[in-house]
Amino acid sequence: TLPDTRRPVLNTALPGPKSAAIMARDGQQLSTSYMRPYPFVPDHGEGVWLTDPDGNTMLDFFAGIAVSTTGYNHPHVVKAIQEQAAKFMHVCLTDYPQEVTTSLAERLVKYVEQPGEKWRVFFGNSGAEAVEAAVKLARNHTGRTHIISTIGSFHGRTYGAITLTGSKTKYKRGFGPLLPNVSHVPYPNPFRPPLGSTPETCGDAVLAHVEMLFKTVLPPDEVAAFIIEPMQGEGGYIVPPASFLPKLRALCDQHGILLIFDEVQAGMGRTGRMFSFQQFEQYGNVQPDIITMAKGIASGLPLSAMLAKESVMTWAPGSHGSTFGGNPVAAAAAHATLDLLDGTVRHPGCGESLMHNAAEVGRYILAELRVMQQHFPFLGDVRGEGLFIGLEFVTPDGQPDGKLRDRASQAMFERGLLNLDCGESVIRVSPPLILTREEAEVGLQIMREALASL
Ligand code: PMP
Repeated sequence: TLPDTRRPVLNTALPGPKSAAIMARDGQQLSTSYMRPYPFVPDHGEGVWLTDPDGNTMLDFFAGIAVSTTGYNHPHVVKAIQEQAAKFMHVCLTDYPQEVTTSLAERLVKYVEQPGEKWRVFFGNSGAEAVEAAVKLARNHTGRTHIISTIGSFHGRTYGAITLTGSKTKYKRGFGPLLPNVSHVPYPNPFRPPLGSTPETCGDAVLAHVEMLFKTVLPPDEVAAFIIEPMQGEGGYIVPPASFLPKLRALCDQHGILLIFDEVQAGMGRTGRMFSFQQFEQYGNVQPDIITMAKGIASGLPLSAMLAKESVMTWAPGSHGSTFGGNPVAAAAAHATLDLLDGTVRHPGCGESLMHNAAEVGRYILAELRVMQQHFPFLGDVRGEGLFIGLEFVTPDGQPDGKLRDRASQAMFERGLLNLDCGESVIRVSPPLILTREEAEVGLQIMREALASL
């Protein structure tokens, strides 16, 4: 029993009358963005809870697609936003340096710099923009054109980014021509090992496939970069085998290919380290040349960053730019977010830092989901690190069961848990990193009941 913990409040069937009125207006295609089937209209947030205009309160296990690391209105973040907004909201970083962004750049590189190495930063507004910048830089720096990406990947919806994206064909159909000189290779998914491999050998099989391409159809000296999510997000919250990234690093080094890690979804503390690739450091050198980050960086204000080694960031001033990129209010929100993530400022009830909390609470959720897996054979796989957890639904013969996943997702929603799908048949658990163990247990109990109802 959890006497002191809030639970979802469902006053009305969803949507309630006020929510329905808002949905009816959006339903007339006023905005072409909204596509969720869930009839929930957020009115205000508090911690990991979101309330609609009819007074229904939901527990949040999706965090605005892995964005709201500190919840929806953390007082420390709100204060930083207010203070910066009162100074100035925009000047334009392309023309005038600003303390808030300079210190943010200094801070971000400290999370990745190793001895004897310097990094530089480009600020944008979204994940896709960071990815575009990474690709432009890689081509520009190497003088090569080809980019290798992975099947199942997601890198954004702008032209370069959809070309790199390796998941649903609907992202590309009817939008071409896309960027030339991009190839996709399988992602080493231990649950669905590609190329006839096993969970243990899938990383090596992918690397052998890349080497085969290098010998036959793709001269490696024409490849500028290999871009990969160190843990794949939209593709299904997939963790590759531990040895894969160090070996990929070595293969890229052998051919002078830049390694880009897209940390937009798994980065910013979500897996329990600042960046998900750092989970693999114990298995060898995994230092990339370029890192993209966005989503959780500023608790929901639009900001992204592309970090590159100084030796790679050979752009002249003005080679690339963005009017809003590195907006000072978003940068102030990023500072406050990082304060909480790295423990400079403590969040009550979350241990020494939110990263630490993500690791701890994530371990608990993962263990509990593995217990549930024993009871529900349709849970084919439960995997993840920290608060980056995937729950894969399967048919009795082990095939992805997207329909059952959708029913499970709906059953959780109807019991007051906001959740989000990914991949073919996966529910992702990607809550704010301020989630306490008690709140996690409320969500888990809803999941148990929802799964039992199927
Ligand atoms: N890269 C990854 C790994 C992502 O998950 C996403 C968004 N889901 C993006 C890039 C694109 O980010 P944005 O929507 O901010 O452009």
